[in-house]
Amino acid sequence: MMTAKDLDSIGYFEAFQTVDEVKVSDYSTWVEKKILTEGQDRLVENTLGLVGEAGEVAEKIKKLIRDSSRFTNEEIMKELGDVVFYATALANIYGKGLNEVLELNIAKLDDRQKRGKLKGSGDNR
Ligand SMILES: [Mg+2]
Repeated sequence: MMTAKDLDSIGYFEAFQTVDEVKVSDYSTWVEKKILTEGQDRLVENTLGLVGEAGEVAEKIKKLIRDSSRFTNEEIMKELGDVVFYATALANIYGKGLNEVLELNIAKLDDRQKRGKLKGSGDNR
């Protein structure tokens, strides 16, 4: 569980002033400062990081179903934060950061909803 003290120790409050409203563009810049690898190594590290963290989310849900294992909302949110971190790191490589990811995703899903295509499969439906 990440506490306010933990966030303070990594400079979170200094970077964002408040945790209530984090600017997406500031988050993308903050993530960029945490990246330790470059080039192809960065691409592989960030991709594996994203998949690994998504796996940690899936593992918690699996254990919930299989073992009736409980986790706190904060625990799952922390893992989702790890997923967002690596997604942002990749977004910084391929575009303008997390903000662009969100804008494109909103436009895509709004368009699918308007056309009654939220169900189904295929990237370009
Ligand atoms: Mg994690």
